[in-house]
Amino acid sequence: MIRFWAPYGLSTSSPRSLPGSGCGVRGLLVPRSLRHRYHCLGRALRAFRFYPWRVAPRLSISLAAYILGLFMVTNAGKLNAQNNFGLVIHGGAGDGVHPEALGDRSEIYYQTLKEVTDFGYEMLEKGFSSRDVVEAVIRKLEDNPLFNAGRGSVVNKNGEVYHDASIMLGSNRNAGAVAGIFVAKNPIQAALAVMENTPHVFLSDKGAEEFVLQSGVPLMNHEDSVWYKNFTEQKRVSKKGTVGCVALDRNGDLAAGTSTGGMDNKFPGRIGDSPVVGAGTWADNRTCAVSATGHGEYFIRSAAAHSVSAAMLLGDMDVQSACGHALQEVAALGGKGGLIAIDAQGNFAWDFNTVGMFRAVRTHDYRATLVGLGEEVAVYTH
Ligand code: ASP
Repeated sequence: MIRFWAPYGLSTSSPRSLPGSGCGVRGLLVPRSLRHRYHCLGRALRAFRFYPWRVAPRLSISLAAYILGLFMVTNAGKLNAQNNFGLVIHGGAGDGVHPEALGDRSEIYYQTLKEVTDFGYEMLEKGFSSRDVVEAVIRKLEDNPLFNAGRGSVVNKNGEVYHDASIMLGSNRNAGAVAGIFVAKNPIQAALAVMENTPHVFLSDKGAEEFVLQSGVPLMNHEDSVWYKNFTEQKRVSKKGTVGCVALDRNGDLAAGTSTGGMDNKFPGRIGDSPVVGAGTWADNRTCAVSATGHGEYFIRSAAAHSVSAAMLLGDMDVQSACGHALQEVAALGGKGGLIAIDAQGNFAWDFNTVGMFRAVRTHDYRATLVGLGEEVAVYTH
């Protein structure tokens, strides 16, 4: 007879029982009082025709199926996301951002946006995290004088450059930001260092610069900046765009980052939306990652980037409708600009109420890199 429960079996026949103390089971001693209880339990189970050893295999199969089902339901977004990683980037929004206005310069923008997007996509494909990709992509854009960030930043009323940047992770909503600095070669690295090496989210001005100087982040060679060149040639930096990147990695984690020299001719000390978590940047694995560009004051006043996520979380909107909703809020206050976003399933969205926005996207779903300046989008197939 097969026994389901070894101690019960021992109570009916105990060939190895030890006199006076109970019986031995694989080295265990079972006292007489317990032996009696197991015996009674066995009789009771049989009386009710309940044979656990018969139903156990069926029960365990059902239990395993239930656990698997539960795992699949709770991780549906994640499983899907692993197959649909991708990124969206922007290089600023404005009324001068369209091929006719840019003329011959359009081509260099198309090429640059495509190259940077493909670079980020290949990192994601190799398994790099969205955090690494956002940092690396923004670093590339900051190094490119075509954009208003890092090297190419515009100047304030006093002719000085001040960088603002932020980064946020969707997995734990950890974030880092800097404002009013001109010491880091790549302000996005300074923002990342704040997130990872301090107990704070946001450092500004002198304190932020002191932190950068001690943090090991590569420092800016001022002579390498467009500001320095223009300063020595007595020229003003022309209007250009802030940069941003949102990404979903193979692990299902979202991240967002934004970097800028701020509004051209801004007041000294002015801080825009780009380094303000919730206004210019937001990431939450439950919803999406967002980066904004445009007239920062309006994006701060409407908490634009967070508003996209909130519309998805609380209003059950899809990512494109949520961007539209957030931009309407900006527009209702009189603001102009744009937003890019990617959701936890890899659906991407962008919206702008300016004539154009430098932007590009590549996701695993699309076998192409899409690049837009004005309304039209160029499709580069792979
Ligand atoms: N949003 C940036 C700021 O207000 C500027 C821009 O995106 O062009 O600082």
